[in-house]
Amino acid sequence: MSKSCETIHKLIRGLPKHEFGHSPQEFPAISHEIPSNGISLMYEKGEFGHGEKRIVWVGINEADGRFFDRIKDHFPNEKRESSILRGSIGGALLARHPGIRDNIENCISKFIKDNISFSVIEVNQCQKRVEIKKQLVGTVAQCKECNPSHDWLGLHSDKDKIVKHGLWQVQHINHAPFNDNDMLRFKEFIENGQRRTGLGKRGNSQ
Ligand SMILES: [Zn+2]
Repeated sequence: MSKSCETIHKLIRGLPKHEFGHSPQEFPAISHEIPSNGISLMYEKGEFGHGEKRIVWVGINEADGRFFDRIKDHFPNEKRESSILRGSIGGALLARHPGIRDNIENCISKFIKDNISFSVIEVNQCQKRVEIKKQLVGTVAQCKECNPSHDWLGLHSDKDKIVKHGLWQVQHINHAPFNDNDMLRFKEFIENGQRRTGLGKRGNSQ
C-alpha cells in the first residue's frame, strides 16, 4: 500500500492548500473555495511523506451541505469537543506541556493556526465520501513510508494508534487500502473538482 499512498500524495500535490488564518474573520473569507460536500485532507508543518506534505487527517461532512461547517469545527475559538482533531491535538499538547491545562483551548487553536493547512476534494454522494475516507485513512495509516518526523506532536499522544500510524485519527486505520479502481475514481473526483473550481462556482454541482 506504500505505492498507493505515494500515488495519492502525488495526485493531491496540485490542490490548493488553505490556511486556517489568524483571526476568526479570515476563515469565512475562503468559504467560496470550499464545496458544499467533500473530503478534507489536512497537513502539518514539518511533516512530509513521499516528498510531499504528509496527510495527517482525513475528514468529511456526513450531513449533506455541511462541509464548510465541519471544517470550521476545527477552527480556533470553536469548542474543543466539536472536533476529534482538536481533542487529539489537545491530548498530545497536554502530555508534552502539562502546565498549559488552564489555557488548553487557546493552545490548541494556536497550534492549528500555526501548523495545519488543508485541501478539499468535492464529493457529493455521502456514501462515496464515507467509503473514500475509510480507504484513504487505511492506505495512509498502513503505508510504511509515511512516517512521522521525530518532532511530530502526535508522538506525545496517549493513544498508541496515533503514535504508531502517524494520523490524528484512530478509526478506520485497518480499513482496506485503495485498489486500482478506487484510485481511478479518486483521480476523477480530483480532476472534476479542479474543473469546477476553475469555473468559480460553489454548491451548484451534481
Ligand atoms: Zn505513504
